[in-house]
Amino acid sequence: MTSASGFLHSLPMRQLRGVGPALAEKLAKLGINTVEDLLFLLPRQYEDRSQITPFGALIPGMTTLAEGEVKLADIALGRRRALLVRLRDHTGGLTLRFYHFRQSQKESYRPGLRVRVFGEVRLGPLGPEMVHPEVEFLSEETASPESGLTATLTPIYPLVDGLTQRRLRELMARALPLLDQTDALVDVLPARSSGGWTLADALRYVHAPPLDSDRRRLLAGEHPAQQRLAFEELVAHQLSLLQRRQRQRQWPAPACTDSAQLSEQFLHQLPFQLTHGQQTVLHEIRHDLQQPTPMLRLVQGDVGSGKTVVAALAACPVLAAGYQVAIMAPTEILAEQHRQRFQSWFEPLGIPVGWLAGKVTGKARQTQLNSIASGECRLVTGTHALFQDSVQFARLGLVIIDEQHRFGVEQRLALTRRGLASGFAPHQLIMTATPIPRTLAMSAYGDLDTSVIQGLPPGRQPIQTVVLPATRRDDLITRIAHHVASGQQVYWVCTLIEDNEQIQAQAAEVAADLLRESLPHLAIGLIHGQLKAADKAAIMAAFASGQIAVLVATTVIEVGVDVPNASLMVIENPERLGLSQLHQLRGRVGRGSAASFCVLLYQTPLSGLGRERLQILRDSQDGFVIAEKDLSLRGPGEVLGTRQTGDISFRMADLLRDQHLLEPARVLAEHLMRDNARLEQALLQRWVAEKDHYATV
Ligand code: ADP
Ligand code: MG
Repeated sequence: MTSASGFLHSLPMRQLRGVGPALAEKLAKLGINTVEDLLFLLPRQYEDRSQITPFGALIPGMTTLAEGEVKLADIALGRRRALLVRLRDHTGGLTLRFYHFRQSQKESYRPGLRVRVFGEVRLGPLGPEMVHPEVEFLSEETASPESGLTATLTPIYPLVDGLTQRRLRELMARALPLLDQTDALVDVLPARSSGGWTLADALRYVHAPPLDSDRRRLLAGEHPAQQRLAFEELVAHQLSLLQRRQRQRQWPAPACTDSAQLSEQFLHQLPFQLTHGQQTVLHEIRHDLQQPTPMLRLVQGDVGSGKTVVAALAACPVLAAGYQVAIMAPTEILAEQHRQRFQSWFEPLGIPVGWLAGKVTGKARQTQLNSIASGECRLVTGTHALFQDSVQFARLGLVIIDEQHRFGVEQRLALTRRGLASGFAPHQLIMTATPIPRTLAMSAYGDLDTSVIQGLPPGRQPIQTVVLPATRRDDLITRIAHHVASGQQVYWVCTLIEDNEQIQAQAAEVAADLLRESLPHLAIGLIHGQLKAADKAAIMAAFASGQIAVLVATTVIEVGVDVPNASLMVIENPERLGLSQLHQLRGRVGRGSAASFCVLLYQTPLSGLGRERLQILRDSQDGFVIAEKDLSLRGPGEVLGTRQTGDISFRMADLLRDQHLLEPARVLAEHLMRDNARLEQALLQRWVAEKDHYATV
């Protein structure tokens, strides 16, 4: 029975020597139940504890073992109280410095004792020192020079609650020899796709790399043994996405054709023609909607490519077939804007538009809920308030999620589950303006089909982007005055690194006051996340109607907001934001036919990297190009947003480094899905189940 998945898969941790009930329970809480689970807790870093560096040879910056005799332990008073311990060996001295310590600790450093320490060397006032090193007091037996020195590099494991590195290493040392037995683990990868490394060999290597390994490669995660594991992890991840897709498609969905010609009527009232890119994507969506299985489609389109109208047209066949459509946006400002737009489009066609957001409460909320539940309300726009349990749809046929990068996968699935009550699954249309490099999209949205809206509506002028130091603020203010005099509007965006609404709001208030002082004759508005929803809506409306000339805002306006007459945007401290986020922000201008400008007003001095990043933005307006660069400069977290990256954290794989493995991983995963349920299960349990318990170092 065990041979189906290898015997370590069902060998409980309790069976490992030295693991009692208390430890086993602690491990179980971390998702480590079997010896296999333990072996797949993978180190990310390594230390060299193979030799002792004499004090005389310590160099600041090196991390090493050192050993010597205690001369003196003393408490230094001063700016920061510290316990200082002086050690000596035959080549020189070393100071240990502890800021957090107990009195008893001082006593334990009796002169004459020998200690071995491990830590990073820095230059202190008395020569080399280590701050809070690991310390081992040596006894007669351990005092021999070689004892305790490792014959391999020492792995550093991801921090797991309540377990020390030492404890983990001891456990691994007991588990690793079990790999020698035949049938220890299921090895899912054919040798040819794994560089000749068996799974057992790869595990042995990463947990205990020999001292002569290529350290640069190892630390970069590029050793073939690590790559072998990373590949397997990516296969498992792709499998989990394919399974999610399969699960979502096990339900029937309403096949919708637009027999009522609603789309025709809709197009007829539009003041413009669809672009070729919009038409192509719409064609794909319509085809999906006609199937009796749920559509799972991601539409990517650069800022301003016209996704909203595509969403509205996607709703038409579903509405025509008598089903409900829900549209979810990540912010109230955007949800409100959608509400207005959908109302103006659909109410003339006899389709009432509902509205549900956090600010809708009390009786108004109950009325909305009732009409959603009765099916009277055919089209609902709103925020994440839409996926709360109290919302029951009568016949939900399509879920549209705008600016998906702001949501996590769970939220998306929660909304689609809302539809299941009626016995079928709603179709899903997910829209994102953050262009995601293909490889990253495969990982974040591997369960979705992808469409890209190519190109922008005609007549758009390119946005001219200028990079300006904050010292030129006065010139800029003059320019704003000219700009407004010519009938155009302006955004002034304050960015802050703090993810604190209150601090952001304060900064925006200060900026607004300054502008009001310099430009007393202009109508200057202020919007930020601290305002009441109704106030935000009123301010946005005043800006949209031209009553406000200059809108000072925090990044609350980042996504979706569409006021075509605004053609100048100033972004303060752009160096603090990711490129994709800046590109999003900048996309608020360049929506009308007037020439548009974006001024990136940076604080001096700007680092070399900072300069390089702003130049990328100045030189490109192609969201895909910018995202690729952002990915290589700042990693997947910046491009996808933390929400999304949280959904895809890996133990060994690295999306950037291992991009080349994604395509083959996908192919193998599809193959396993089709032909090998047993291996599929083994892989998923190994890599995906309960992975959330691991924190990363
Ligand atoms: P995004 O893709 O960033 O969500 P929007 O859907 O907000 O873009 O569209 C941006 C602007 O372009 C809107 O004012 C919209 O009315 C306009 N628009 C959309 N499609 C077209 C088109 N085919 N021709 C002209 N203007 C269009
Ligand atoms: Mg949009």
